[in-house]
Amino acid sequence: MATKLFIPGPTEVSPEILAEMSRPMMGHRSKAASELQRRISDNLRRILYTQSEIILSTSSGTGLMEGAVRSCTAKRAAIFSVGAFGKKWFKIAKMNGVPADFFESPFGEATTPEMVDAALSTGKYDTVCITHNETSTGVQNPFEEIAEVMKKYPDVVWCADAVSSAAGAKIETDRLGVDVLVTSTQKALALPPGMAICTLSPKAYERTAHVENRGCYFDLRDLYDVIRKKDYQYANTPCVSIMYAMDLQLQRILQEGVENRFRRHAAMAEYVRAWADEYFSVFANRKYLSNTLTVISNTRGISVADLNKELIRRGMQLGNGYGDLKEKTFRIAHMGELTMDDMRAVTESIVDVLGL
Ligand code: PLP
Repeated sequence: MATKLFIPGPTEVSPEILAEMSRPMMGHRSKAASELQRRISDNLRRILYTQSEIILSTSSGTGLMEGAVRSCTAKRAAIFSVGAFGKKWFKIAKMNGVPADFFESPFGEATTPEMVDAALSTGKYDTVCITHNETSTGVQNPFEEIAEVMKKYPDVVWCADAVSSAAGAKIETDRLGVDVLVTSTQKALALPPGMAICTLSPKAYERTAHVENRGCYFDLRDLYDVIRKKDYQYANTPCVSIMYAMDLQLQRILQEGVENRFRRHAAMAEYVRAWADEYFSVFANRKYLSNTLTVISNTRGISVADLNKELIRRGMQLGNGYGDLKEKTFRIAHMGELTMDDMRAVTESIVDVLGL
């Protein structure tokens, strides 16, 4: 029996989208390849609310997180963390030799505009990295308020990790002033894993000219330049199969309507939170709850691993807690192509398995 995935990525991929991946290869230097990428970029711009260039990379999202902090930091990066993936961004900066400082919030809490203001007012930083949606805690950071602070620092490049929220939560990249918004294929876009996507604002592009050591594969400037020079093609061979799938999936997302898609995600989120309140409790601060996944505190001391074993036997899988939160929490993703019926099915099954 196929297992329906309620883990926060990879998410369910429709059979029609999977089938697109078995289409014959095309040359990545062909006119058809240029047209494919141009169409993908145009559609991603609509979903990510940006006029900026879109960059694809054949890697998971971490690749472009590395590209962002390394290509955009000429002076020093301020890296804000609300959990495992903020920590990861700091580690990436350090391992690339990018000067960076780390600003951490307690688990379940957000990066506040005051924290960002306090760091930037020192004048030490020319880049900030902020997680939009933290998959380990279920926190969605208050980007509207942070954007107000960012307006005071027009020279600072804002990089955002929207790996687990883009296409499942509305993020108005340009209006907010986000310069590099990074995401992956395998989350709310409901595509197989294997490619990363980012936006690159003119300000971020300009900055890259002042960074000497941008690396090679994830050099955002080089990726951008090649797209321009080679009419929407890549310096290296991209994963053409995922691009086929992406092309169709983006058209489907636009057919659903992006606002409808965000509303569907919000309705699932509300349902799961209400269920969690009834039987367990929601882990994160209520002011900052994610649209795409809910992290639930294991207030009953159940074995999450055993619960999952039984759920998998029934054809569904949820996420255990991430890292230090394993067994202390569990995670239900409500992202991608999942529906309210799926939410009812998984929560009813949990109640049944646990005899609640
Ligand atoms: N950032 C967040 C918030 C994530 O949830 C993940 C993966 O789960 C990543 C970054 C890393 O993305 P990838 O696995 O595509 O490299």
